[in-house]
Amino acid sequence: MERDWDLSEVTDGKLYSSSDLAKIGCNDCKGCSACCRNMEQSIILDPYDVYRLTIEGMISINELLATSVELCVVEGFILPVLKMQKNSNACYYLNQEGRCSIHKYRPGICRMFPLGRIYENGTFQYFLQIHECKAENKTKVKIKQWLDTPDCKHYEAFISDWHYFVKEYQNQAMNGKLQGEVLKERNMQLLSIFYLTPYTEQEDFYSQYEERKQLFLS
Ligand code: SF4
Ligand code: SF4
Repeated sequence: MERDWDLSEVTDGKLYSSSDLAKIGCNDCKGCSACCRNMEQSIILDPYDVYRLTIEGMISINELLATSVELCVVEGFILPVLKMQKNSNACYYLNQEGRCSIHKYRPGICRMFPLGRIYENGTFQYFLQIHECKAENKTKVKIKQWLDTPDCKHYEAFISDWHYFVKEYQNQAMNGKLQGEVLKERNMQLLSIFYLTPYTEQEDFYSQYEERKQLFLS
């Protein structure tokens, strides 16, 4: 999110980098699954999430869209988000034991929780949402380790790039510079290029992302 709110209300007032320690260790959640329920449409998927789900998890994009993912308007642009189940209001991937059945390749927002990101000046920092995770006696963990994502430097560069890239189009949609059929077409191109076209495991994600970005901009 962009900084247009008072950090002191929901955070410990600090901003963190991935090299910092933060009080986020929740002792393996111990039967709690609160952050996998009632999340509404807040778990927005980025292309790396879809890469991991489809390549590492071997769940096709069609299967994702038929089961666990829905398309939602996020600040004027349609993006894929994790869907909560109608009856239980739980994530599709929360199993009977209250654990994530796709833990190894769960989306980045799930990996980060209860941290959030605040974007400013072309980059971002992390903040700790102090009211979100109710686990007691939390331990300090290095954020890089908490994210549990290979090549953190490259990953964070992608996260920042993707945020500002999409934000540009969201802003254009929100202020009316993009509208009607043109908006629809641009949005469909974005979904098709970054989400619906299958990724390959023969090439690393970041190269494929750059190639797709060039294609979208051409
Ligand atoms: S709310 Fe905290 S303790 Fe509960 S599942 Fe989420 S991270 Fe774990
Ligand atoms: S993907 Fe896993 S961690 Fe994320 S909300 Fe669903 S069950 Fe929870």
